[in-house]
Amino acid sequence: MTPDLPPLREVIARHGLSASKALGQNFLFDGQLLARIAAIPGDLAGAEVLEVGPGPGGLTRALLAAGARVTAIERDRRCLPALAELEEAYPGKLRVIEGDALEIDAPALFEGRPHIVSNLPYNVGTALLVRWLSADWQPWWQSLTLMFQREVAERIVAITDSDAYGRLAVLAQWRSSARIAMNVHRSAFTPPPKVMSAVVHIVPGEQPDGVAFAKLERLTAAAFGQRRKMLRQSLKAVPGALEALEKVGIDPARRAETVSVAEFVALARCLS
Ligand code: SAM
Repeated sequence: MTPDLPPLREVIARHGLSASKALGQNFLFDGQLLARIAAIPGDLAGAEVLEVGPGPGGLTRALLAAGARVTAIERDRRCLPALAELEEAYPGKLRVIEGDALEIDAPALFEGRPHIVSNLPYNVGTALLVRWLSADWQPWWQSLTLMFQREVAERIVAITDSDAYGRLAVLAQWRSSARIAMNVHRSAFTPPPKVMSAVVHIVPGEQPDGVAFAKLERLTAAAFGQRRKMLRQSLKAVPGALEALEKVGIDPARRAETVSVAEFVALARCLS
C-alpha cells in the first residue's frame, strides 16, 4: 500500500529547501508526471534502482510507489532530512547516500544490475551519461531513464546526417538503443529552467564483435573534432584510418556527419 505522504511543496517549505542554481536544482512536483517517468523502464516491482539527485524526493516517491528498491545519491545535505522521512515511510526500500555522484563508485553499491532513473542536474548529466555508456559491456546497469535538456536529448538520439549527430549519438547507439520517451515542458519544474527537457531511455544491446571501444572513441573524436572537413583530412592523424576507409568502402571525401553508426563500427573494427 502506498503510504500517505505530505505534499512535496510542504516538505520543501518545512525543510527550507530553496532551489540552488549551482546544484542544478529544478524540482518536479506533479505526481502524475513523476509516475509516468517511473513507468518508462517497465515494471519496477522488486527491482533495484539507482537515482542520482533525489532532491526533496519527488521522483524517489514515484519509484518507491512502483515497488522499486531505491539507492539515491544526493550531494545537497539540506535534502537529507526530507529523504529520511521517505526512508521511514518505506522501511528497507530506500538507501540514501550523501555525496557527489561523479566521485562515488556506483557499481560497487549493487550486487545485481540496477535500472538508473534520474532527473539529472544539467551540469553533471552528460558526464555521468558518458561514463555509464563507457562501462565494460554488458554494463552494470539494466537501463537508463534520464532527464536532459531537450537539445542534449536530441544529440543522444540523433540520426546520421543531422545537425545534432555527433560523438554522443555514436556512443549512445553503437551498442545500445536510445529513444526520447517523453518531452517535458519547462513549466513542469520549480523553478522553471530556461530550456525544454526530455527523458531519454537507453537499453544496452550486444556489443559488436571485434571492436575495441578505444578505437571507436579515437575515430569519432578525430572525425567530429573537425566535422566540416572531409574524412581524408580529419582522420589523417589516426593511424590506419585512411586504409580502413578504403577497406570498408567509405569515400574519403565524405564528412563525419554522413558516416552512420554502423560505418563507424566497421571502421573501428578494421583498426581493432
Ligand atoms: N529528483 C528531484 C526532482 O526530480 O524533483 C531533483 C532534481 S534536480 C534537477 C537535481 C538534483 O541533483 C538536486 O537535488 C541536486 O542537489 C542534485 N545534485 C546536483 N549535483 C549532484 C551531484 N554531483 N551528485 C549528486 N547529486 C547532485
